[in-house]
Amino acid sequence: MEKNSVLEETNKSLNFIEVIIEKDLQEGKNDGRIQTRFPPEPNGYLHIGHAKAICLDFGLAKKYGGLCNLRFDDTNPVKEDVEYVDSIKADIKWLGFEWANIYYASDYFPQLWAFAIRLIKDGRAYIDEQSAEDIAQQKGSPTLAGTHSPHRERLIEENLSLFEKMNSGELAEGAMVLRAKIDMASSNMHFRDPIIYRIIDHPHHRTGTQWKAYPMYDFAHGESDYFEGVTHSVCTLEFVVHRPLYDWFIDRLVESGDDVSGYRPHQYEFNRLNLTYTIMSKRKLLELVQGGFVRSWDDPRMPTISGFRRRGYTSDSIHKFIDKIGYTKYDGVVDMSLLEHTIREDLNLKSPRVSAVLNPVKLIITNYPDDKEEMLEACNNPEDERMGSHEIVFTKELYIEREDFMEDAPKKYFRMTPGQEVRLKNAYIVKCISCKKDEAGEIEEIYAEYDPQTRSGMSQSNKKVKGTLHWVSARHNICAEVRIYDRLFDVENPGAEKEKKFTELLNPNSLTVLSNCRLEMELATAKTYDNFQFQRLGYFNVDPDSTADKLVFNRTVSLKDSWSKIKDKK
Ligand code: ATP
Ligand code: MG
Repeated sequence: MEKNSVLEETNKSLNFIEVIIEKDLQEGKNDGRIQTRFPPEPNGYLHIGHAKAICLDFGLAKKYGGLCNLRFDDTNPVKEDVEYVDSIKADIKWLGFEWANIYYASDYFPQLWAFAIRLIKDGRAYIDEQSAEDIAQQKGSPTLAGTHSPHRERLIEENLSLFEKMNSGELAEGAMVLRAKIDMASSNMHFRDPIIYRIIDHPHHRTGTQWKAYPMYDFAHGESDYFEGVTHSVCTLEFVVHRPLYDWFIDRLVESGDDVSGYRPHQYEFNRLNLTYTIMSKRKLLELVQGGFVRSWDDPRMPTISGFRRRGYTSDSIHKFIDKIGYTKYDGVVDMSLLEHTIREDLNLKSPRVSAVLNPVKLIITNYPDDKEEMLEACNNPEDERMGSHEIVFTKELYIEREDFMEDAPKKYFRMTPGQEVRLKNAYIVKCISCKKDEAGEIEEIYAEYDPQTRSGMSQSNKKVKGTLHWVSARHNICAEVRIYDRLFDVENPGAEKEKKFTELLNPNSLTVLSNCRLEMELATAKTYDNFQFQRLGYFNVDPDSTADKLVFNRTVSLKDSWSKIKDKK
């Protein structure tokens, strides 16, 4: 094999950023040092899109023996809060990653201030007192050069004193801004004298009221990377157009410093994660929480990491999902059913099988002794023998699902209907005889006879039936609440909808609460977040709302992807 094809061969399993890193390592760049960062703004809880960035930032450092720092990009005090800082840390840990250090962009406020002063002194920045509208108007368009601000040639001394004033508290927000003096005719709009400092009159969650002038993202980000020694600064594709400005500021920093090592950080961009039937924007997710459209940031319908965790998703399943979708340089939308497929695969291997009846109706086995209690063996997981088995009590009176009975059934109905035999899972074959209805015609009780020779595991019985139903003993069960979730939005891409506001696109039936579910006794000791497969129904986990008196379960995901089928029929 030629050298190039060997390289291509190994590159197949690498994502494009890993290819860049391996090349940098081969060339001995930055003395072989690999340093990344995950830079969230603490203005909301992390969503699964952030998990994709986390897996890359922390994953690269882990794979190449480097460092990944957690850096809070806290340059806008109005939207930020310690609650978000804490939740972000918890989510990263839950995903199984550890940061080398925690940094805050706000820790660099003094250095950023000093750098801004240097730019002013070098004639590369000026104070503009125009309104935001005037500044925007003078920007021009991608095909039309902008016009110079009347303040562009202000004297350095005056710029310096006005910059001090911006931070003194005596000026109102919007009174003036500091702009970098670059090129109002540049084809890159970000070069047209970008704003680098603005006045914000709001206490900061870390620096309090010490500062009134705050750096803009573009100004603070690359500088923070440089101060920390980041080598590979990875972000999403919308920052491609910001990269020249990122580099421009770093050029200014490098030329003003005395570091001769040649070190400088580089920005690389990958495709952000978009998922169908949900949105990936902290701002919009905050609106859902504040507007009461969901209960909290960790509402199991939310695409937040904490929402998925509460819903019963495992950290493993999120990693596997992110591996499946990979990292590319073009944007797209991933089908939610791929994520659901991944959690199903994971829980299929891990979760014990139990019986739960969500919508119970009584089944009476007329020929079974009144007081008999029989312990039957129930396999915990047919996928994994090591998970063993548990016992389930069989009695004369049971509960089955209301949906599993039909009085006048069509031919291919293999569940319970008079005259037909079905198997009760882990127990006997029973034949329905009749049923009793109330005045409204609602089924009250179903009657059946069992065949004692057909107990599961008995070798002498080779009777075959088409249907198997789950059940619980009417005398031995626990009553629980079960929450069933559906898509949060009715439309596939709510973020792209132009006609209506996203909150008008919510699915009104995204939550159904079932409060009289009957679960087998095995679940009495279930603990918060434990995952189970409720046989024939799906994967469920214990919600933290559970109390000593009443367990609450979430349906993580149904057993089959019924959604795609329904969608195809529409
Ligand atoms: P949002 O608009 O939801 O607030 P953001 O990009 O402003 O997202 P940050 O807190 O600035 O959120 O993001 C931290 C990191 O996570 C950034 O590097 C960003 O590029 C990345 N990130 C954000 N959203 C996604 C996404 N949907 N897919 C992949 N990475 C993302
Ligand atoms: Mg942001």
